[in-house]
Amino acid sequence: MKLVCLDLEGVLVPEIWINVAERTGIEALRRTTRDEPDYDRLMRFRLDVLAENGLGLEEIQGAIGSMAPLEGARDFLDGLRERHQVVILSDTFYEFADPLMAQLGRPALFCHRIETDTAGRIIDYHIRLEDQKRRAVEAFRELQFTVLAAGDSYNDTNMLGAADAGILFRPPDNVIEEFPQFPVTRTYEELDREFRAADRRLRSR
Ligand SMILES: [Mg+2]
Repeated sequence: MKLVCLDLEGVLVPEIWINVAERTGIEALRRTTRDEPDYDRLMRFRLDVLAENGLGLEEIQGAIGSMAPLEGARDFLDGLRERHQVVILSDTFYEFADPLMAQLGRPALFCHRIETDTAGRIIDYHIRLEDQKRRAVEAFRELQFTVLAAGDSYNDTNMLGAADAGILFRPPDNVIEEFPQFPVTRTYEELDREFRAADRRLRSR
C-alpha cells in the first residue's frame, strides 16, 4: 500500500507568510524557510514582528481567508487521491491553514498549532514533534506503507530522504544544488509523472 506525503506551502498553496506580508504591508514577514532554514529562529522572528506591529490571529486569518490554492492544485490533488491516500505534512498551523484546506477538499493535514492570549494576540507556537515530517514518514513506513513524498524547500529534505521516493517541486536553486539526489519537477503534470514512475518502480513492494 502506497501513501503520498505532500508539503503544503509552495506545493499546493502559496507561501502563507509572504501573502500575509503582502496583505499587511510588513516586508519583514517575507522571510521563509527558504531564507532561514532554522525553523524556530524564523518563527520567533515572525512572532516578534507580529507583536511589534500589533497584529493578532484575527488579522492573520483575515489575510489568509482571501488566499486560494495554486492554480491546478485541486485537480492535481484530486487525481492523486484517486490512486493513493494522501497526507499533507506541513510546518504551518491549523489556525492558519483551515480556509485553504477547505478549498482543497480537506485532505488529512498534520501540522502545528499556535497559542493566543484572551485578546487574540499570538503569544507562542507549539510544534507537534521535532522534525515531524521525517518522523511521520518513518512511522508510516513502520506501518508497512511505501511512502512517496514531494516538497519544495529545505524543511522537506529530511522527509524526502526518509521516503521510498522523494521529489522536489519548484525548489529554489540552492536546494537543487544541495540535494541533487531528488528529481526536480516544475509543473503538476511533471510531478504526477514522477509519482507514476515511482509507483511503477516500487510496484513489487
Ligand atoms: Mg513548502
